[in-house]
Amino acid sequence: MLKGKSVIITGSTSGIGAGLAAAFAAAGCNVMLNGFGDTQAIEKLRFSLENKYDIRVLYSPADMTRPDQITDMVKSAQELFGQVDILVNNAGIQYVAPIDEFPPEKWDAIIAINLSSAFHAIRAALPGMKKRKWGRVINIASAHGLVASPFKSAYVAAKHGIIGMTKTVALEVAEQGITCNAICPGYVKTPLVEGQIADQAKARNLTEEEVVKNVILAAQPTKQFVTVDQINALALFLAGDNGASVNGASLSIDGGWTAQ
Ligand code: NAD
Repeated sequence: MLKGKSVIITGSTSGIGAGLAAAFAAAGCNVMLNGFGDTQAIEKLRFSLENKYDIRVLYSPADMTRPDQITDMVKSAQELFGQVDILVNNAGIQYVAPIDEFPPEKWDAIIAINLSSAFHAIRAALPGMKKRKWGRVINIASAHGLVASPFKSAYVAAKHGIIGMTKTVALEVAEQGITCNAICPGYVKTPLVEGQIADQAKARNLTEEEVVKNVILAAQPTKQFVTVDQINALALFLAGDNGASVNGASLSIDGGWTAQ
């Protein structure tokens, strides 16, 4: 069903994005990787996916704070793959501080990477999807796109923003064979969260196990991390033909967090 399609996944050198890249590659899609990290490790990931699944895998080092680089990334995927069928806006960063102590440059970076980058990528990728009357845009939002937590003003604002943009794009493209949806995960154990566990343990003088149970997963009723495989399955469903009527949705995958 997805075999032969081409996908761009922003922020796919780590965590959820790397998991999505492997899942779309396994489904037979050509993949454009993006994100920061060790050059050799990224090349190893690119090469291993390409060989394992007999598909094309490219890497773009585009910085998601730079609109020109985002547009160039989409253009090169269109040229090198022939088309971009699926766009997954996943790149994201976090910074935690009370709003009156929040560094303005961190606010700007979070809004740029977690929200504006999706605008620039969608803007560049949609014309090709419209021409072929088929496309999928999947925005990796967060439970924080639906509810807030203290000290995460920029992240919560960006994630609420991306859900608003998801709905707007969905309405604009609804008659053109394209869908746009947001996936809203609860906590997933990736480098982004592992950093928070270590910081909180130090700050609160708790063990990392105590932080996971009593701080990180306190709001997640299952008391289990969401897994990358679970997110992959949801993304593949949205990208497939059976996902065609899911449009403009914010799909929670958070162990019940936002049911409270
Ligand atoms: P991660 O830190 O493991 O990966 C983030 C990726 O984004 C990396 O590949 C990194 O290189 C890339 N990136 C960061 N800044 C970039 C920039 N300026 N330009 C290009 N790439 C950049 O994080 P993750 O946990 O896998 O998060 C992925 C997405 O999922 C984020 O949008 C995050 O907000 C969202 N999310 C994560 C969780 C969680 O619990 N981990 C929960 C809900 C939502």
